Amino acid sequence: MRICVYPGTFDPFTVGHLDILIRAEKLFDKVIIGLLQNTAKTPFFTEEERKRFICQTAEAANVKNYDIVAFSGLLVDFAQQNNAVAVIRGLRAVTDFEYELQIAAMNKKLAPKLETVFLMTNTRYSYLSSSMVREVGSFGGDITGLVPEAICQEVVLRLKPIRS
Ligand code: ADP
Repeated sequence: MRICVYPGTFDPFTVGHLDILIRAEKLFDKVIIGLLQNTAKTPFFTEEERKRFICQTAEAANVKNYDIVAFSGLLVDFAQQNNAVAVIRGLRAVTDFEYELQIAAMNKKLAPKLETVFLMTNTRYSYLSSSMVREVGSFGGDITGLVPEAICQEVVLRLKPIRS
């Protein structure tokens, strides 16, 4: 059984995240989505909401070989505790690359057997980030097509009151 972990804040889960999840599921037997808690950035959506958004999205997209596990602390420890052989990260722009390269190099030093696998973004989603969704949504902008259809209405409702 080849397991990978896909860590992130997923605040909220976007179609870019879904694209990476679907592709990772094809490469590995199981994808463990590592839902980050206690990060430097306080998430807008609660852990429960973020988890539920992923579940609803995965169900609608027929993604089955996955699990969601909240975690804090070192990613390499989390990966090892879950018997993962690889960490999946998505890459959008050059700016992602520099940051990710640094993290991948450090993780390699901490856990030499653990691989980091980068999946290039689908070009349609190269501009898409959770923070962009929160920003646009909070001003009442249309986020259709940016977050999965299964959760769009709920995300819109949660974001709107911020500025109104
Ligand atoms: P983090 O807080 O770790 O950056 P995110 O929730 O923002 O977590 O992203 C989780 C992962 O998904 C990261 O590897 C990020 O590069 C990737 N990702 C985010 N948006 C996209 C996208 N539009 N296309 C491809 N990968 C993406």
